[in-house]
Amino acid sequence: MKWNTLFSKCLILVLIFSLFFIFESAHSAPLKWSYSGKTGPEYWGSLDPAYVKCSKGFEQSPININTANLVEATDLDPLKFRYTTTPFKVLNTGHTIEVIPRNQENSLWIDNERYILKQLHFHHQSEHEINNKEFPIEIHLVHQHSNGKLAVVGIFVKEGLQNNVLKNVFEHLPRTISSEEIVEKPINLTALLPKDKSFFTYDGSLTTPPCTEDVTWFILKEPIEMEQRQIRSFSELYPSNDRPLQPLNNRVVFKRIH
Ligand SMILES: [Zn+2]
Repeated sequence: MKWNTLFSKCLILVLIFSLFFIFESAHSAPLKWSYSGKTGPEYWGSLDPAYVKCSKGFEQSPININTANLVEATDLDPLKFRYTTTPFKVLNTGHTIEVIPRNQENSLWIDNERYILKQLHFHHQSEHEINNKEFPIEIHLVHQHSNGKLAVVGIFVKEGLQNNVLKNVFEHLPRTISSEEIVEKPINLTALLPKDKSFFTYDGSLTTPPCTEDVTWFILKEPIEMEQRQIRSFSELYPSNDRPLQPLNNRVVFKRIH
């Protein structure tokens, strides 16, 4: 009898604990993703049901751009950047540094459709590659149409002269996650763009969870420059926030050379 009572008590305790853990896991936040270890890119697709595209998508980014294998698209309009002098705030998200315009006045026009600049951020090393060549930094300028569609412009950064447009941003990178800095002097991003606006374009995805597809990528052919010290100030915070290359599958990469 005693043994049976002890057994029932144990069983009840096990049940209580199980219920507690089921309740807890159902109510805890989705697992945080990262760039290494058990929450790194190869596991993103299984960390949360909402991240399934990260492992099961067919049009994922980034990709290697093989310049011997591009289709010339002479019918594509050149990209029309309409950037204005704008105050920004700089945020450390824990995955990158995000530079967020404090108004909706910066836009990119594609085929007479307006896409508004929502934020730009940085990856070290570059995520896209040209003929399997990486660059020290890739900048992503994320634009959104009023219908929700995303168009991201990727700009490669090579080591060279000091970048004056981003000087104030890089001198005050917020070192703590979730902390913000306000850029004192407004920035005109037009001066950030390379002279040559030739681009490669393809259909891809976000390069971070949830890896949503239906993102149009425009990768500018000409890199811009940043001083080694500027590159290092970012890479000290984020030594490796680049998703590995994804298969092209049966996608075509177009080029528009001006
Ligand atoms: Zn990015």
